[in-house]
Amino acid sequence: MIETIKRCVCDACGAQGPEALESESPERLAEREGWAVDRAGGEDYCPACAAKRKTSASA
Ligand SMILES: [Zn+2]
Repeated sequence: MIETIKRCVCDACGAQGPEALESESPERLAEREGWAVDRAGGEDYCPACAAKRKTSASA
């Protein structure tokens, strides 16, 4: 069988999150590492960019 590797990519800087096999959730793995993940299909941010966004004014 073919295993598909999925991973989150930061929408701000392009950093790549932890790899997840098809049976795993890349969102969950990324969140465990401090990523800010929008499960609704929105933007994902690595820990560094998530921290930056938190300190700046939110919309
Ligand atoms: Zn980033």
